[in-house]
Amino acid sequence: MEFRDLKRQYQVIKKDIDNAIKEVIESTSFVSGIKVKELEQQLARYVGAKHCITCANGTDALILSLMAWGIKQGDAVFVPDFTFFASGECVAACGAVPIFVDVERDTFNISAEQLYKAIKNVLKEGKYKPKAVITVDIFGQPANYVHIRQIAEKFGLWILEDGAQGFGGTIGDKKACNFGDISTTSFFPAKPLGCYGDGGAVFTDNDEWAEAVRSLCVHGKGENKYDNVRIGMNSRLDTIQAAILQVKLKHFAEYELDQTNRVAQWYEEQLCGIVNIPHILNDFCSSWAQYTIVCKDSKEREQIQDTLQREQIPSMIYYRKGMHEQKAFENIDIVVENYENTNFLTRRVLSLPMHPYLQKEEVEFISHKIKAVVENGV
Ligand SMILES: *Cc1c(COP(=O)(O)O)cnc(C)c1O
Repeated sequence: MEFRDLKRQYQVIKKDIDNAIKEVIESTSFVSGIKVKELEQQLARYVGAKHCITCANGTDALILSLMAWGIKQGDAVFVPDFTFFASGECVAACGAVPIFVDVERDTFNISAEQLYKAIKNVLKEGKYKPKAVITVDIFGQPANYVHIRQIAEKFGLWILEDGAQGFGGTIGDKKACNFGDISTTSFFPAKPLGCYGDGGAVFTDNDEWAEAVRSLCVHGKGENKYDNVRIGMNSRLDTIQAAILQVKLKHFAEYELDQTNRVAQWYEEQLCGIVNIPHILNDFCSSWAQYTIVCKDSKEREQIQDTLQREQIPSMIYYRKGMHEQKAFENIDIVVENYENTNFLTRRVLSLPMHPYLQKEEVEFISHKIKAVVENGV
């Protein structure tokens, strides 16, 4: 069994993918070009944003966004403590300081209450200027934008939505990757919409920021690549990846996202009352980047993981450490004392195989093994 079965997916979409790749190779246009333009239009239409700018990966997408806002040394950017490293790394890469904020125990997403406290704290200390909050749509469920937006507006902060795991999620009829003032995603192969290498995208309705990002990802270009008006970087999406993503987006939108939600439903039916299953808020939909359960304690988690491994069922711990525990961030000189929920989760979370091609029998098999451990300790 695979954790995220990209082989099964390829078997289903093989003809379209092979044709798309062949077309790019025959055209010998490997960077930028019409396929990238088309993909950007399709992605913008899908999420409902005015602009989409593709780039080399999801981390660059975050850095480019912060650069477009001019985030720099002396600025503070608030980031959930329970996330992938890149959500905090991008802030430090711009010379600013990431302030890590505890998350909600049930949704794993940034806590509005703790965010409010953290902003107050930074203002009181007066060392850094609060500029933005990076919300992460962790494991595929959008962050609680109603609450976060209120706080961001009160303190005049921009929202950068890190939708690396969120693509395809919704709140009501609104799609993820369009909840931030700027939003980003990643096309790393294992993400909800993945390519066959690295890729990323930036979304915004703001013309000025869109233009800045477009310039920044091609060496700060002005009128062209050899007219340079700012210091940028080289961060573009390969044409082959764009061609692959055009095919994948079609399948994702037509049935994969629905199938993934069906798999989540099967897990819920099997595991409800056995372990803590993911809690999706009313009116929210997840794109299920991960299906993450919360075990009773770290011992139970270890037993479950060992049992699954014996049956050749892969499982992963996302995440074993909070950002505040990462050595790379040990020099941050703002003290936040409360990481209670992150600390609770890092000791108990376990992510199970999750992808649109998982069969009902496989979900039942995985669930029976988990049930046996919880009920009998084996
Ligand atoms: C994967 C991921 C990223 C980084 O994306 P890459 O394409 O791997 O650079 C950023 N944030 C989160 C939350 C992620 O899961």
